Amino acid sequence: MDACSAVGREADKVLSKFSNLGKTINKSIDDQISQIEALRAVLATGEDEQLTSVHKTDLKHLTLKISDGIGRIATEHRDLHSTVSKVGKAIDRNFVSDFDSTSREDVLRGPNKEHLLNEVILQHLYRQGHLTIAQTLAEESGVHEYKSQKEPFLALNNILGALKERNLEPALNWAAENRDALNLQGSSIFFSQTDGRATVQQKSSLELRLHKLKFVDLLNSGDRMQAILYARRNFPNFVQGQEKEIQVLMGAVMYAGPDLKSSPYSSLLDPCHWAEIEDMFLRDACALMGLSVESPLAVAINAGCTALPALLNIKQVMQQRQVAGVWNAKDELPIEIDLPENMRFHSVFACPILRQQVSEGNPPMRLTCGHVISRDALNKLTTGHKLKCPYCPIEQNPVDARIIYF
Ligand SMILES: [Zn+2]
Repeated sequence: MDACSAVGREADKVLSKFSNLGKTINKSIDDQISQIEALRAVLATGEDEQLTSVHKTDLKHLTLKISDGIGRIATEHRDLHSTVSKVGKAIDRNFVSDFDSTSREDVLRGPNKEHLLNEVILQHLYRQGHLTIAQTLAEESGVHEYKSQKEPFLALNNILGALKERNLEPALNWAAENRDALNLQGSSIFFSQTDGRATVQQKSSLELRLHKLKFVDLLNSGDRMQAILYARRNFPNFVQGQEKEIQVLMGAVMYAGPDLKSSPYSSLLDPCHWAEIEDMFLRDACALMGLSVESPLAVAINAGCTALPALLNIKQVMQQRQVAGVWNAKDELPIEIDLPENMRFHSVFACPILRQQVSEGNPPMRLTCGHVISRDALNKLTTGHKLKCPYCPIEQNPVDARIIYF
């Protein structure tokens, strides 16, 4: 962040110089043009085509003035150079440009991989609603089969756009069309607090939430009768398991119109409900399409950005101590990167003996007693053909240990 603001300061300097220079240059050019025009007008009034000596001196004088002006502009423009180059230097000083040692180019090389990468970028663009850019990329990269997957994203973006404008109809239609699939997906287990019995409730709450918003909208507009009719028509399907919520909504009927704002039910008007419904719709729709809610590309890039400073640091340390060879097996990172909760997708196993995260080269091994340690630890603890489990401690043959896969 400091680096960004340092560069920002230099860029601001350039901008202010630019605008100042722009103003003075425009003014001096305007002056010159007007002088030339004035002279031309004088010349045009002359009856014969011969120039008088007065004209000649005027002309000479003006030419000198103009070349003077041009010289001045050129000097000022040259001065600008140093300010611009300072920005470049500030960027070099504040940002590390050598990321080579922290990346593996071969991962993305080759026609097949390039194709995959293009597909990931396309999916991201469709997902964000950048359809024209996606279109161009699809054409230029030759990824044509992806077009068929574009439609659901288009629909999704249209509905999201409508929700942003507080238009619920497209989302309601979508929820009704996909009701069965949503209910299957939204099935959740509820534990009754009275008898502790578990019941499976097979209802996604998206459709009810949408109806609820529509109902509150009608109430807010003051159309009490319309709101009641809407509730009668739409709520009965959802009452089961949502009795409390429906009761609250019915209570709000007393305060239709502007009174709703100052009523005990004012929280129904909270704009956060709209943000929530967008989020919920996106989650449900992505789940139905078999996609993750977050764009995989965005997650990968964000995770990379989080990891980069630590990796650059360790690279520097390795160079200073001349241990560059340590990070040759690039399948794993030389240090542990602590990513935030929302970027963790796979469970990891750290060996309890060596306190290292397991990897392909050092997988977790299940001993016959059921305890799990890493293969490196197993090799270290083995003496001859015997291994004593560090936990139980049952003696066993290390050959009997099995790799386990998470
Ligand atoms: Zn054991």
